[in-house]
Amino acid sequence: MAATDSAPAPNFIRNIVAEDMKTNKWRGRVHTRFPPEPNGYLHIGHAKAICLSFGLVAEFGGVCNLRFDDTNPTKEEEEYVESIKEDVRWLGFDWEDREFYASDYFEKLYEYAVQLIKDGKAYVCDLSADEVREYRGTLKRSGKESPYRNRSIEENLDLFERMRAGEFEDGSRVLRAKIDMASGNLNMRDPVIYRILRATHHRTGDKWCIYPMYDFTHGQSDSLEGITHSLCTLEFEDHRPLYDWFIDELKIFHPQQIEFARLNLTYTVMSKRMLQQLVEGGHVTGWDDPRMPTISGIRRRGYTPESIRNFCERIGVAKRDSTVDIALLEHCVREDLNEHAPRVMGVLRPLRVVIDNYPEDRVEELEALNHPADPNMGKRKVPFSRVLYIEQEDFLEDPPKKFYRLAPGREIRLRYAYFITCVDVVKDEKTGEIVELHCTYDPATRGGDSPDGRKVKATLHWVSADHSIEAEVRLYDHLFSIPDPTDVKDGADFKSHLNPNSLTILTSCRVEPSLAGAAPESRYQFERLGYFCADRVNSSGDTLVFNRTVTLRDTWVRIQKVQNRSRKEKI
Ligand code: ATP
Ligand code: MG
Repeated sequence: MAATDSAPAPNFIRNIVAEDMKTNKWRGRVHTRFPPEPNGYLHIGHAKAICLSFGLVAEFGGVCNLRFDDTNPTKEEEEYVESIKEDVRWLGFDWEDREFYASDYFEKLYEYAVQLIKDGKAYVCDLSADEVREYRGTLKRSGKESPYRNRSIEENLDLFERMRAGEFEDGSRVLRAKIDMASGNLNMRDPVIYRILRATHHRTGDKWCIYPMYDFTHGQSDSLEGITHSLCTLEFEDHRPLYDWFIDELKIFHPQQIEFARLNLTYTVMSKRMLQQLVEGGHVTGWDDPRMPTISGIRRRGYTPESIRNFCERIGVAKRDSTVDIALLEHCVREDLNEHAPRVMGVLRPLRVVIDNYPEDRVEELEALNHPADPNMGKRKVPFSRVLYIEQEDFLEDPPKKFYRLAPGREIRLRYAYFITCVDVVKDEKTGEIVELHCTYDPATRGGDSPDGRKVKATLHWVSADHSIEAEVRLYDHLFSIPDPTDVKDGADFKSHLNPNSLTILTSCRVEPSLAGAAPESRYQFERLGYFCADRVNSSGDTLVFNRTVTLRDTWVRIQKVQNRSRKEKI
């Protein structure tokens, strides 16, 4: 359960580190690392791990490494390395000069493997991959020992050296740890630690034709870097005995591994493999599509690093897997932008309004607040003239009872401007579509106040037709149409749950002139419409493209109210 505003979210790892500092367990050191595999872009789940590992050391005066776990040459690319660095930096964390690569340890890992062979703890096995699997057994069935398990140390040393020298074909042999084929933990049943694979590695090129397995690399890399608290997600709990075994057999520095629950979010998927399918299948425009749960996508959408860090703090750190409501993430950015984003006016679906009694050549510069609650954010001028645009949905010719906005004969307020009354509706003769409204204004209501205390029920946003500028606005909805898209039956695919309406592009929006030249990534509240961010890829100079980050409606607050109510009822 995520914490509410009043109580800090539980974080059992913080307690462990605090205790270790008190007892001087690591001689006052706290050293963590964030170890991504460069096979995709980082997502919001990784942000949780980043905030945790970097956040703890900031709190306790330690350091955190960035380490690329690049043991798999076929899936890794330089593009991913660069994007990961950019994302971690953008989130606000600094690894200084501690940028490491597991591939930097390949020589050392090879030595470790030789050491295990010499100690009789590893052997070269000629079984095929299928046979290795078959021999491993299952949770219910004990494994069977490989016929190659008792090769002599000399023979193993010779074969392993020849594996490295490229004498054998890919997949023809592997090096395995000699542990226990009857172990209740499948990871301990003589796991493969080296394989033959002729593939060009993004850093070591063609130097190697054997590569260490991830499980043989991760713990030793932590050890080589002197990591004290090695934080990882729960799926590694079953691997811990194996990591411990390697480190104990090799008699090297022993970090403490602590597992925590992965972050899952509703209405999205959180696995690089699935996200890659979305990119490669053209279901999104790229890893940084603003609908993606990737850090680069969320950033492009308009999220701030502060809001993501705040989100990660609020969800806390627990041992049990859970799914967080995406409404909480949205709530966090809304809260941040509500405080910091300047207010502006923009009209998404313009409807022309002519103020009949306003002089044709007059233009007034009306004063508008940049933030209603923060006078330090100042004021700006907004031009008002005879022809304006309002939002199409703010007018109804035949309004139902609870519709308080503009309608024939009705008076409303234009924000920071005047009271206007609708006097006529012009329609397209053929289609019947409303193309223009005619209104009159009351000059005595300048600034939006009526001198006689007259009340209106609505205040609408607007822009001046001649002075406003054109913009493209992209509205987003959840990427998937159900809360758990991975819940698929009968061989169906998670992609079948993609939301067909996740993106709406509006190309003829009009925004107030103060937005001319809006810098990429600048964020605003469009009054009454939500928070918007100038697209960092497509918005530049004269071409304005805005992404709607979130609407103004905070569903998280509503969810909390319902939860609080039911909690009270139970008491
Ligand atoms: P994915 O399953 O999404 O492909 P991964 O675990 O393979 O992710 P890595 O690059 O290995 O990705 O992850 C780097 C670090 O981020 C690991 O320590 C991992 O435990 C952590 N991490 C990955 N996904 C999440 C998540 N959803 N929540 C929290 N931490 C995560
Ligand atoms: Mg992984």
